[in-house]
Amino acid sequence: MTLRRACVMGHPVAHSRSPMIHGYWLKTLGIPGAYELKDLTAEAFPAFITNLAGNGYVGGNVTVPHKEAAFRLVAGRDEAAEAIGAVNTLWLENGRLMGGNSDTHGFIANLDERARGWDVPGCRALVLGAGGAGRSAVYALKRRGAEVHVVNRTVSRAQDLAARFGVRAHGFDAVPRLLRDTDVLVNCTSLGLAGKPPLQIDLGPLKPSAVVYDVVYVPLETGLLAAARKRGHRTVDGLGMLLQQAGFGFRKWFGGNPKVTPELRAMVEADIVAKTPK
Ligand code: NAP
Repeated sequence: MTLRRACVMGHPVAHSRSPMIHGYWLKTLGIPGAYELKDLTAEAFPAFITNLAGNGYVGGNVTVPHKEAAFRLVAGRDEAAEAIGAVNTLWLENGRLMGGNSDTHGFIANLDERARGWDVPGCRALVLGAGGAGRSAVYALKRRGAEVHVVNRTVSRAQDLAARFGVRAHGFDAVPRLLRDTDVLVNCTSLGLAGKPPLQIDLGPLKPSAVVYDVVYVPLETGLLAAARKRGHRTVDGLGMLLQQAGFGFRKWFGGNPKVTPELRAMVEADIVAKTPK
């Protein structure tokens, strides 16, 4: 049997936890495949992906800074990639290079798993951030029927999302008012990430029943999640999103039924804890 090979393409890419996640599934599912790191400069990336099979790969993940280039270079895109404007997963379909976006799948699968019943009737979601993660979250929440409000430091970026997805855009000054009616609060800014400033919002006005979700997963419990947990909110961390999104590509390249097991989560958690500055 030929060994199917996939890779994560980025620059830099050495920090990626994708080889650990896919390696775990290949091993536990007994699939004869390989998942590798591929550090590619912006100059090298187009030639590499347009001859993916010739380079020995059946597909892969795309990370910073190549997601927009991948979007332009693929022959076909899935609905999520089309809507979001970025491709982070590549695969071959009848020889054609296809691109998808796994973050929307990961975002919503994690929310479904960790906060069952979050989608109450008339659910209102408040998404902080309008970058790549914010776009994925807004798209996923909107598709599930939530009324979505998006807040961003650069309000024009929130307004672009509002126009694209039919949601409402605001600046950070609207947060206290919006929190009163919010059922799901999501941080998709990079605030709270290790080495970045904290996200400073007062959760005081937030509905007690609200779910609080932070897509940042380094540290595993951000300041936002710690504050929400202390107030008794259900909380969802970003590690589950990272793990859940990986299954999307794995199924396309290797088949099988990759599951986010407690063992996999514990393995990646231990790696994050070991590498996060105290
Ligand atoms: P991005 O495209 O660079 O967007 C960054 C966002 O953060 C923008 O909305 C930006 O606002 C906002 N921001 C940055 N600094 C800020 C500040 N000082 N004050 C207020 N807002 C600020 O990044 P991204 O790809 O969306 O990633 C965002 C975070 O999500 C990262 O920490 C990343 O690690 C995490 N993430 C997690 C997963 C997962 O699987 N769990 C997946 C993707 C991303 P402006 O528009 O005003 O600059």
